[in-house]
This record gives sequence, structure tokens and C-alpha cells, in this order.
Amino acid sequence: MCQGCQAASGLDSADLVILNSCTVTSAADHDLRQAVRRARRANPAARILVTGCYAQRAPEELAGLPGVTWVVGNSHKAQIPDLVLSAPCQSRIHVGDILAEHEFLAAPVQDAAGDRTRPNLKIQDGCNNRCTFCIIPSVRGPSRSAKPDDVVAQVRTLAASYREVVLSGVNLGRWGREPGIRMRLAGLLRRLLAETDVERIRLSSVEPMDLSDDLLGLMASTPRIARHVHAPLQSGCDTVLRRMRRWYRASHYAGRILRAREWMPDAAIGADVLVGFPGETDAEFDETRRFIAELPYTYLHVFTYSERPGTPAASMPDSVPTPVRKRRNRVLRELAAAKNLDFRRRMVGQTLSVVTLEQERIGLSHNYLKVELATPRQPNLIVEVAIGGLTPHALQENRGRSTLSPFSPARRPPN
Ligand code: SF4
Repeated sequence: MCQGCQAASGLDSADLVILNSCTVTSAADHDLRQAVRRARRANPAARILVTGCYAQRAPEELAGLPGVTWVVGNSHKAQIPDLVLSAPCQSRIHVGDILAEHEFLAAPVQDAAGDRTRPNLKIQDGCNNRCTFCIIPSVRGPSRSAKPDDVVAQVRTLAASYREVVLSGVNLGRWGREPGIRMRLAGLLRRLLAETDVERIRLSSVEPMDLSDDLLGLMASTPRIARHVHAPLQSGCDTVLRRMRRWYRASHYAGRILRAREWMPDAAIGADVLVGFPGETDAEFDETRRFIAELPYTYLHVFTYSERPGTPAASMPDSVPTPVRKRRNRVLRELAAAKNLDFRRRMVGQTLSVVTLEQERIGLSHNYLKVELATPRQPNLIVEVAIGGLTPHALQENRGRSTLSPFSPARRPPN
């Protein structure tokens, strides 16, 4: 929060509305434009500031939307407080060369606590890869990492109030690869385990090239790191992976996933998959489908390819017709649902370590399954929950057989 500003109780009482935009798909762009319209309708007097990736990619487009006062790119995010608190006559667009950014811009630790039970701490930004479908490198800039001491201090602060801390980044597995930080992600995790009393750390997403034996072995060795591996796949077919300019091949990827399963039999294993990439033939899609069918996934995030202006893939030939893209998406979603059901069935009769969420009867297991609790619990506890059955999309607690985690007493989020 800027100096001198206070959070408004609702949209209609705000003087200033800040919208942090995403531009990873055309649907995200559409959602942002709708959010601007909604904000303007609810409160025509409020000034609207749009920041984030869409602002970085297409500032003029956003500045042309009725009601938008400022457009601030990722390159200028740190200047938002000065901008909104200074005199009103200034230019509307504040966007610079994000590719020249080499310093990690740390957000205040309170920002990580937006989620009142599982704070999300960004420790890495940007990406040096150039996947041909992806707009992110041009709007987030090169890979850069939070300093290890800063991460330790922030996790220590969060651990005083929360049970689970999620570490995130645009390309989290690349944390620490710049000159000056002589440590990899596994080294950072060891420091966090040794120097903080955080009860559970969860990794958001790690590219398959960075799922080293060292990292997987560490995850398997301690209950303080959630048994949850999310490794973007995008395609299970090598010819498509090559066109996407992804740096691994399907066999390497499969090896990493099988290793994770071997060392963590009860882990959540998930992936992002992109269907309908230009030129993806029926045979190539089927190769991906079979590849996924054979791996021990517990969930998938399936995305339908959409052309992003400014990416190499947007001008590739052999665009896949929209109905075909949608059908492929549905096929993989159905496959993912079947795998998720199998995994949940395996959990019935087991006892899982679960963090209780804001909704008083819902928890999230260490292996990323929603659990419907038999009785209301206060949020932000870790409880050992005996699983008695299934609901359509979650697990169900076996009434009367669960216990509080032996680790430590309840911690309450700050008000
Ligand atoms: S690794 Fe991820 S963020 Fe980086 S270019 Fe590829 S898809 Fe985009």
C-alpha cells in the first residue's frame, strides 16, 4: 500500500483502482478490458491505473480505453506510489525497456499475504527462454532472482503467521542462476528449512530441465516441502516441442516425472499442456495424448493455443481450426479428470496432512487435493485428516478420526 493510501472497503468507495494485468492469452486481455469497464461503471469518479504484462505489451491500446488514467508497465511498477501521489498533470503512459531490467524488484512481504492461509511469495521474475508461443519474456524481461538472505527473512516473517508458504516465479527453477548468487533452488530450500520454522513450503512450478535429482531428493526427504511437482509439459511430441522451442524432449521429461513418482509415491504431479499449436497434426496430438496417458499425472492444466501478437508462433503456417483446438482440449481434460479420480481413490483410507483454508470446511492436502472437512475448522491450521471418501471433485474427511498436526500450535494470520 502506498504511503498515505488506505485500502477501500469496495470498488464504489475507491479513489484509485489498480488493475494488475496478465496477457498470457487473448482471454486474459479480454478479462482485463472487462474489468476496466466494470470499475468505470461501478465508480466513474475513480482514477484507474492499469499495470502488469498487458500494460507492458500494449500500452496505447489500454490508454485508449475510456476511464483509464495511467498505464504503467512492469518496467515502472516501482514508481506507482510516486505517480499516484504526485501532481495530476503528467503523461498517461509509463513503460520502458523491460529487457534492460536486471534487478529483482521485491514486493513488500505483506503483498504475499493476499491469500490469508497460503501466502504466495514471488522469488524469481522474468525468463531467458524463448518458447515460440509465449509473450512472457518480452513483458517480464530476463530472469532475475530475489537475494537468498531476503528470501530467508521474508519466509521467516511469513512463517510467524502462516503454516504454508508457496514459492513462485515466472520460471522458478531458474532461481539463483545469475552471476552473484552461488546457489540453486535446492540450496535455497535447504537454507529455508534450516533457518526458518516454516512448517510447509510448496513450489509453484518448475520446468522439467530444473527438476534435478538433488531437488526431487530433497522434496522426498522432508514433510516440510509439499509433495507436489508441477512441471510444464506443453506437448508430449518431440516435433511439436521443437517448433515450440522447448529445450527438452519427451523422453527426458518422462524420466523426470517417473523419478518424482518413484521417490514420492503419494505426490501430486501436474503439468501445463498446450493444444492446437500451429501445425499440430492429429497424429502429433495423439502422441501427446498417449504420452500423458502413460504418465502418473494427478491433474493437468490444459490450455488452448491462442495467437499472441509479437510471438514467432503467431506467424507460423497451418493454424489449427478453432473447433479442433477445442476438441483436443476436451479430450485432455477428460483424461486429466480420470487420472485425478484414480489418484483420489487411492487416497481413501489414508491420513493426509492438510492446511485449513479460509472457507471453514475446506482444506488443501500436502499433495494438492481439496478436502471437505467433516466439521468446521478455523483457517490456517495443519491437521492430519483421515480420508473416508470422495465428492465429485474433492476428498471427504472420515468423521472423528482426524487430529491436529503435532508440529506446533495454531498460528493466526495477522488482521
Ligand atoms: S519457459 Fe515459460 S515463461 Fe519462459 S518462454 Fe517458455 S513458456 Fe514462457
